[in-house]
Amino acid sequence: MRALALAALWLFACGSPRAGSEAPAKAVSGPEPGVSVAITVDDLPVHGEPYPGIDREKIAEVLLAAFAAHHVPSVYGFVNGKGVDDDPKTESILRRWLSAGHPLGNHTWSHPSLKDTPVPEYLADIERGEVILKKLNAFGTFRPFRYPFLFEGDTAETRDAVRNYLKRRGYTRATVTIDGDDWAYNGPFARCRKLGNEAELQRLVGDYVERHVAELERARELTRSLVGRDVAHVLLLHIGAADAAAIEPLLTAYERRGVKWIGLEQALADPFHALETHAPMPFGAADPYRLAKERGVKLSSPPPDDIQARLATTCIQQSQ
Ligand SMILES: [Zn+2]
Repeated sequence: MRALALAALWLFACGSPRAGSEAPAKAVSGPEPGVSVAITVDDLPVHGEPYPGIDREKIAEVLLAAFAAHHVPSVYGFVNGKGVDDDPKTESILRRWLSAGHPLGNHTWSHPSLKDTPVPEYLADIERGEVILKKLNAFGTFRPFRYPFLFEGDTAETRDAVRNYLKRRGYTRATVTIDGDDWAYNGPFARCRKLGNEAELQRLVGDYVERHVAELERARELTRSLVGRDVAHVLLLHIGAADAAAIEPLLTAYERRGVKWIGLEQALADPFHALETHAPMPFGAADPYRLAKERGVKLSSPPPDDIQARLATTCIQQSQ
């Protein structure tokens, strides 16, 4: 799951940042010109490592309360039905999501990767993922599908077989433009919570927000370079403990950067999201990185670091 860092490294143009690309935003008062962002949350009902005292319903409640407070419309929750089959009481999280006015989408049943899953099995897993959505009456005419790991297959045959299946079945590819590797914070967050290390928990939240703001700026730069304008963006988050802890400052930080919240269906109507790469990609990545790689578009700002490596020892007690 180091797709983002890898993709960004490929795109980083060594040399001076473009004059005026970052500095004026901090120097002038007031927000930058507005940009639209749809929020999506993956791996419902359960994401991330368990730890003593974790309350999955509470995580959902905190996220939903923040969306309500910030008037974020139509936040698609992408569901892995296996989570409910493994622990039926988590169905209440999906019901709560719907009752808060937010829709659900298909993220496969068991979260397989196309790297090591034969296409027929993968397609069967997508279909199995529909069962819980149909049960909850959440399988409407607009059917967004989110690929696990954002990975669409590393051969043209695999990629096209799944793409064609999705089209036949009425699905829309739920593109991602902003991926700040939020999932990587949940393991360290769980460890710090277990240790009761409040200072480190606060530091993680600050780091999470900072990283997602930087990724918003990278996504804006790349999409402007690709199509000459700000596109309607789609932010990828997960239903994890770190996400719940960081959601309020994250939404505030984005709004300070001029973000206006829209729903996923509205965002995907932007023609940018219909752009597809021609060459299969060897890893999953947000669409601006994929398109930029194929078209030779470079980033002027430094790439994000390897967050998983950087947080690998956070809140791991040293034996001595
Ligand atoms: Zn996922």
